[in-house]
Amino acid sequence: MDFPDNVKRLCGLKRFSFGCHPNVTCYTECCRELDLSLTPYDVLRLCRELQMIPTAFIERYAVMELDGNGIFPALYLGMVNDGRASCPFISENGCRVYNGRPGACRAYPVGRGATLDANGKKQELYVMVREEHCRGFVESQNHTVAEWFENQGLIEYNKINDEVLTLLQHEQVRAGMHLSREQKDNFLLALYRLDEFHELVSSPGFQDTFMLSEEEIHSVLSDDLSLLRLGIRWLQDTLFKEKK
Ligand code: SF4
Ligand code: SF4
Repeated sequence: MDFPDNVKRLCGLKRFSFGCHPNVTCYTECCRELDLSLTPYDVLRLCRELQMIPTAFIERYAVMELDGNGIFPALYLGMVNDGRASCPFISENGCRVYNGRPGACRAYPVGRGATLDANGKKQELYVMVREEHCRGFVESQNHTVAEWFENQGLIEYNKINDEVLTLLQHEQVRAGMHLSREQKDNFLLALYRLDEFHELVSSPGFQDTFMLSEEEIHSVLSDDLSLLRLGIRWLQDTLFKEKK
């Protein structure tokens, strides 16, 4: 696989030196001019942090790509028009949503690619991204990828993203499936617009069709992560099941 010059494959077991803290001279330089793709779990965590409902968050902060190159719709964090294309959450004291910051912000300078092989087995690949402005590489702390991810609170992010991967890399998708507009809307509803999906799940019709137990209904209606996981299951059914 070919990478740009500043991106190198990284062995998960190899230690690398990197540190980031408010005293680095480049503090917050990395929070500008970003193509920051938002996963469903990113949006869930940002909404929790900002105490916003997902539909309002998307309206205010996200840029949606419905018909881009990908099969599925994609959401990006909209940058501010301040002449430097800054992240809307940057402040002079750092990240305003630090506890709910997106997975890509946590992982930097490490990038993680996960794919499912033909047997549905997950393969992971790591890269190190070195950007000129970033002074973090001269810091003395060193880590393995696993230590870095743990330290940055990424374990849950990677876990949920991998659950979404079962949709993104479903065998029918790899075979060239195209989504209708309705299927794209359902994808956004069940993974991103969780407040609207909550309404749908609250309806007796949904509960009867999907045969949810009382316990499951209580769990998905009171916990956003359980609701997201139900969204993944629902999409598995509505997007793929009929064609099996
Ligand atoms: S060290 Fe790198 S990651 Fe940290 S603030 Fe500077 S540019 Fe951003
Ligand atoms: S969310 Fe926080 S860490 Fe991520 S780019 Fe914005 S300000 Fe920086």
